[in-house]
Amino acid sequence: MVQRRQRTIRREASVGGVGFLTGADVTLRFLPAPANHGIAFQRVDLADQPSVPANLDHLTPRQRRTGIQKEGASIELIEHVMAALSGLQVDNCVVQLDAPETPGFDGSCRPVVDCLLDADFEEQPATCPTLAVQSHEQFVADDGAIIRAQPFGRRGMTITYLLDYGPRSPIPAQTYTVNVTPESFVNEICFARTFILDSEIAALKSLGYGPRTTAQDLLVFTADGVLDNELRAADECARHKILDCIGDFALIGCDLQGYFNAWRTGHQSNHELMRQLRMAETNHDAASTAA
Ligand SMILES: [Zn+2]
Repeated sequence: MVQRRQRTIRREASVGGVGFLTGADVTLRFLPAPANHGIAFQRVDLADQPSVPANLDHLTPRQRRTGIQKEGASIELIEHVMAALSGLQVDNCVVQLDAPETPGFDGSCRPVVDCLLDADFEEQPATCPTLAVQSHEQFVADDGAIIRAQPFGRRGMTITYLLDYGPRSPIPAQTYTVNVTPESFVNEICFARTFILDSEIAALKSLGYGPRTTAQDLLVFTADGVLDNELRAADECARHKILDCIGDFALIGCDLQGYFNAWRTGHQSNHELMRQLRMAETNHDAASTAA
């Protein structure tokens, strides 16, 4: 298997926005990092400016989002920033931020992609490890949602997302498939925005979430369609679920080779599948060594 070289960004770059959860003004600053560093988020607003590596070992349980934590420092909603970094094959980077969450932007990761493209990229001497899916793995969530990984002849990672919330959902059933490369990520995925049902908003507002978030900052679905906004693609929701997969899968810390197929799943399922894959890889390596 031909392994690509690791990449970082050529120069520092920053982008700002408003946090979806707290409403805080947040500035993200991306800094180059050495080979084999990985991605880490650094809370520059806290004393000692702690860093938290963005990997499976530092995940913290959250509802409908991805958060990481280390020794009391936590960062919420990292998935869209992780998707932008992974989609553009940035392996090593320090992401500084001055708030407990990343900015929500327009609900997509396009502003982060634009910022990283502006920073440009630099290949590093080390090669990027690749985990090739060796056997059929799947995770079934409590609500029956399923995500699968299987070996695949095509190079790289291909993801199909089947979104189907049933005939009464305001969000129509849709499916999307992409072989993930920097080009396909930029052209087909990065602009797809997160979405919510208007019936879910009151509960989130009652918890204090989204004090500055409006229907222009994400897709709000009502019985009559999208509220105060327009879809960027008919299958934008399925594309966004793939964006989430790319961001969550990146927590495994290497390239993936295989076919991934998801139905109605979310962040927790994505994380569990990555844990299973890492475990299967460890067992496979142990078996190879023993043989
Ligand atoms: Zn998302």
